[in-house]
Amino acid sequence: MAAVASPASSLSPSAATPLLKVDNLVKHFPVRGGILQREVGRVHAVDGVSFDIAAGETLGVVGESGCGKSTTGRCILRLIEPTAGEVWFEGKSVTRSSKEELRALARDMQIIFQDPYASLNPRMTVGAIIGEALIIHKLAPTKEAFEARIVDLLETVGLSADHMKRYPHEFSGGQRQRIGIARALAVSPKLVVCDEAVSALDVSIQAQVINLLEDLQSKFQLTYIFIAHDLSVVEHISDRVAVMYLGRVVEIAPANDLYANPRHPYTEALLSAVPIPDPTVKRQRVRLQGDVPSPLKPPPGCHFHTRCPIAQKGLCDKERPVLKDVGPAHRVACHLRS
Ligand code: SF4
Repeated sequence: MAAVASPASSLSPSAATPLLKVDNLVKHFPVRGGILQREVGRVHAVDGVSFDIAAGETLGVVGESGCGKSTTGRCILRLIEPTAGEVWFEGKSVTRSSKEELRALARDMQIIFQDPYASLNPRMTVGAIIGEALIIHKLAPTKEAFEARIVDLLETVGLSADHMKRYPHEFSGGQRQRIGIARALAVSPKLVVCDEAVSALDVSIQAQVINLLEDLQSKFQLTYIFIAHDLSVVEHISDRVAVMYLGRVVEIAPANDLYANPRHPYTEALLSAVPIPDPTVKRQRVRLQGDVPSPLKPPPGCHFHTRCPIAQKGLCDKERPVLKDVGPAHRVACHLRS
């Protein structure tokens, strides 16, 4: 557990050298049209995102679909090339790494994908899927060592040795996600991006997979970026939570502080929809008007001003709010909250 936060550049109160530093990350996707396929617009998927993560920490990243959270995760690993901004891992620039350096970095930074049905090659056995990275990174010198490592990984994620020779279609969604986790762990990474890793699973299975991820974190000192669209999913696993809206981080804070004392109107609205287990506690539901605007043409000023219940004309629709401190490690991008 650790605590860190970040504005557009400086950040972490507790970690002098964060494991991961993301600085002003931008990703625009060109949209092409016409016979000549000229660029006719740009999807502003990630619009200046910054944060630090300390070793052993879990940062939850939350927001509605299309807010840029998965793109942020993929840009960090350079599965997608960022348009601008910098990412450092253990003080080394990921964004400026050569292909060879990236291959080496891939041992330290892994990803678990959302869809356990689509992310596993149906033609490969589970052993081959998990062992692929062992071969790429030359981590198993002999066939015996290779098989022993696969069995070890299967057992680590709650599966068994005889699953090695089976195919993905023979497993349930939860079991497939365990295979995805074993595949990510094969190279002994330090950072794992869990990209909506439990979103496609039933609630009871979600809890099992989250418990497994927590156990693995303490066993292997893992650091997680845990991406989800639902605040209730990240609550228990996260040390800190970053809330994203239309490509920007609008609030970032230690998890208990964010849930007890949300400061951004968007976070307040998201939280108001999270059920409270105690029936005696009532939370007033904040219903946002309208839909999330298109990232092709995000609104000027504060991206949230078209839906914000307290937006101020002449300010919120003109000036972009920057993340500012509102409490220990608690930062909010809102003109009206301090
Ligand atoms: Fe609402 Fe304005 Fe704050 Fe944006 S800056 S969240 S529009 S009050």
